[in-house]
Amino acid sequence: MVTGMELQDLNLRNKYFDAEQFRADFPALNNQSVYLDSAATALKPQAMIDATIQYYAHNTATAERSLHHNALQVTQTIHTTRENVANLIHAKHSHEIIWTRGTTESINLIAQSYARPLLQPGDEIIVSELEHHSNLLPWLIVAKQTGAKVIQWSADIDELSSLISSRTKIVAVTQMSNVTGFCPDLAQISQLVHQNNAILVVDGAQGIVHQPINVDKLNIDFYAFSAHKLYAPTGLGVLYGKATLLEQMSVWQGGGKMLKTTTFSEFQVAQLPYKFEAGTQNIAGIVGLNASLSWLNKWDEVQADNYLIQLSNYARSQLKQFDDIQFYSVEGSPIISFNFKHIHHNDIAILLGDQNIAIRTGELCAQPLMNKLGCHGVIRISLMPYNNQQDIDKLITALNNAIEIFA
Ligand code: PMP
Repeated sequence: MVTGMELQDLNLRNKYFDAEQFRADFPALNNQSVYLDSAATALKPQAMIDATIQYYAHNTATAERSLHHNALQVTQTIHTTRENVANLIHAKHSHEIIWTRGTTESINLIAQSYARPLLQPGDEIIVSELEHHSNLLPWLIVAKQTGAKVIQWSADIDELSSLISSRTKIVAVTQMSNVTGFCPDLAQISQLVHQNNAILVVDGAQGIVHQPINVDKLNIDFYAFSAHKLYAPTGLGVLYGKATLLEQMSVWQGGGKMLKTTTFSEFQVAQLPYKFEAGTQNIAGIVGLNASLSWLNKWDEVQADNYLIQLSNYARSQLKQFDDIQFYSVEGSPIISFNFKHIHHNDIAILLGDQNIAIRTGELCAQPLMNKLGCHGVIRISLMPYNNQQDIDKLITALNNAIEIFA
């Protein structure tokens, strides 16, 4: 008989990465267009699409409520997916995984349920200046509600040592910047944060896609990510929180199955994770995420990552042929941000769009970082293991065509 552990070893040994096969799993890539906007949202593999169709076409049911066959089955899928997500990020318990609408909602939930009752006037929340608006605005809002202060931080560890104090209650930082691709040193940050009795909130929206995370080992208090950047449906997010923190937090939204008992005068909240899941969950989204995770599990992530680093280096070396290019992103990152000195970023986006090349331009929901970089926006290409050298070659041709128009 094969034990669970042996089965895991067997699975690990069976993992491989083949760029062409990986790419073939994405129906959106069966045409001439080039998709270089995966940091905005990832394309979806057929396995995920099939699972979602199967749910809508044949197994539609609500979860955790009705008792008919499909309802029990979908309830089981939700439990399994919660466990799979816990395993993915190395959470100790699956009840530490809360379904939300996305990274944005997850961080707002922390701000309103954890921070708002805790913060006093004069308390400080240190937020890195790399942050997406989704990991800045929830803190600005809660600071306004409580009289606390948001402190800007460069994401440098030495600067954190000088900023952090007994007034610091929360430090919020990204796992990977969606503009520069920079990955702060979470291990060092976490150590410093906890030495100062503060808690660490990590925005994993970009990081989860490219870097394995171990919330337990890194001692991360709260971690958030969105399913749609991880090959899964939109409208679904994850909030991980340490059970000890989640248990002491008050509920944020009411309704559905977030309660044990209620009358017209009082209510008792449900246990974790349900107390934070008011209303019907995004069932199709969770079914889709589960399918994406099992599909992802067959690929060797180290090999996929090496492939991506090579592709990023290739893209950068090709882009360097343009004299007036200025890069903002770190070398080897799947996120490559740049500008041409004399052409507006949005003009490039439109001219590339006309040539079927999908990229992202603008502030990338990171206005403070744009100010720091001294620009009003950037051109961003973002890569996934389904991209290939031909995509980069087509991008370079399209950029040459665009630049010729301006010349
Ligand atoms: N943080 C980062 C770093 C992101 O890149 C994004 C998405 N662009 C978000 C947060 C917000 O994610 P969502 O819109 O899915 O909530």
